[in-house]
Amino acid sequence: MAITHRLQLLTMFAGPVERDAAPHFGYADDYLGAFGLAVSPWPYRQRPANTSYQALLKAKSVIDHHDEQGAVMTIAKWARHCYRDRLASDVVVVVCRLMRDVGGATFSKGKLGLDFSLVLFDPVRAEAYKPTLAHELGHAAGLADNTVDPTNLMYGSNSATGAGLRVAEADRIRMAYFARAA
Ligand SMILES: [Zn+2]
Repeated sequence: MAITHRLQLLTMFAGPVERDAAPHFGYADDYLGAFGLAVSPWPYRQRPANTSYQALLKAKSVIDHHDEQGAVMTIAKWARHCYRDRLASDVVVVVCRLMRDVGGATFSKGKLGLDFSLVLFDPVRAEAYKPTLAHELGHAAGLADNTVDPTNLMYGSNSATGAGLRVAEADRIRMAYFARAA
């Protein structure tokens, strides 16, 4: 399918292991490409994100995403400080190790008073479930977990292998604030 929209990602990496997460951006591209969507990470693929990388290392090496008032708000603060001019149009993807047994966690725009969506993505845990980043980007666009259809990308289980999206769901991602017509 021809690419109709690009999803603008602002990427932050917590360390060298996380900086090797390149294949996962490829997987996200593969899953979303079936719906005319492509990921467009920045500054990843252009230059190392040293500023955010050092800031994150100082925060924590492993992030507890349930600590919403702690780690998550600290990351949000840094993102706002470093990338203020991009936050209105990008979704922030923080590549980091997570303390709990999940490959990713997403705080949608509006949640916790955030004025942008924040995705935490663990490339090591996500190794077992390749659609993870694409799934989290669906949450960032405002989609909820699908609880009934294991073939759906938004099915809320790490054991699912779903790649499907309903037309309305793909449309919702296309209309996300971080989506741009290709
Ligand atoms: Zn989910």
